[in-house]
Amino acid sequence: MTATLIDGKAFAASVREKVAVHVARLKDEHGITPGLAVVLVGEDPASQVYVRSKGKMTNEVGMNSYEHKLAADTSESDLLDLIAKLNADSNVNGILVQLPLPDHLNEDLVINAIDPAKDVDGFHISNVGLLGTGQKAMVPCTPLGCLMMLREHHGSLSGLNAVVIGRSNIVGKPMANLLLGDSCTVTIAHSRTKDLPDVVRSADIVVAAVGRPEMVPGSWIKEGATVIDVGINRVPAPEKGEGKTRLVGDVDFASAAEVAGAITPVPGGVGPMTIACLLANTLTATCRAHDLAEPEGLTA
Ligand code: NAD
Repeated sequence: MTATLIDGKAFAASVREKVAVHVARLKDEHGITPGLAVVLVGEDPASQVYVRSKGKMTNEVGMNSYEHKLAADTSESDLLDLIAKLNADSNVNGILVQLPLPDHLNEDLVINAIDPAKDVDGFHISNVGLLGTGQKAMVPCTPLGCLMMLREHHGSLSGLNAVVIGRSNIVGKPMANLLLGDSCTVTIAHSRTKDLPDVVRSADIVVAAVGRPEMVPGSWIKEGATVIDVGINRVPAPEKGEGKTRLVGDVDFASAAEVAGAITPVPGGVGPMTIACLLANTLTATCRAHDLAEPEGLTA
């Protein structure tokens, strides 16, 4: 391997440490403890794991964590009532509704019911619009984590060619907007893109957010490029025993690491940064709510 490994796990730990220091100062100087409310509807096992680990890390940085677990058949009006209560609760600075929601609930309606100032996932239409127009927004956690790693590695991103593979509302599109905000020349590639390998070969920065295991081989990567692999895919791992699995990204790590200048691993790259950025966003929302200075280096 010739590429520098971008260690998301270590970087995420340093982000959480910065958050914890700022939270301690908020408590000491202003008597404020940031609070994050997480709403989980139903019993999806993966979502339960995410919610547990979010709650644990929220407490570890000194914030209050409020978990609201609702039955899978909760009505839309009951869920909207809970969101209205959380919007009105001054102890709650951030609200996250764990997605996906059960089919009978309208995700757009639910997300857009959250007070945009408490929308720590950055999915509310107001925050999407603010980010798209280069204004101060709550920014989706995963792309924010990618941006932080890119800034840390490159310093300035100005003028670099960035190719984002994937156009989802939670990763691809906000990622492209953030890179534009840092003055990259941005291409968004997707499932209908023609000559994807050639498009990717033009990139100084590649962000892969597709959801297809090891789809991007090293032969598509320009020598020296920085590769951020957002994908999390579980694949069979017979070498570990019958029925065992392992996690891989959207990039074929082994071949890409031979050509890239820097690369994030899976696991241990973007994943840990996502929760760290959720905590950073909750802190940012708290500071904005109280008209206090925002933490440096933890926002877009
Ligand atoms: P999505 O399914 O909403 O979007 C996938 C995108 O990939 C689509 O825009 C589609 O056009 C594009 N695509 C599909 N096939 C393609 C192809 N052959 N060539 C080029 N583009 C293609 O997915 P998402 O929610 O954006 O997530 C993408 C991946 O990132 C998934 O593996 C997901 O698990 C992972 N993810 C990781 C984190 C994290 O914290 N690390 C957070 C969110 C998502």
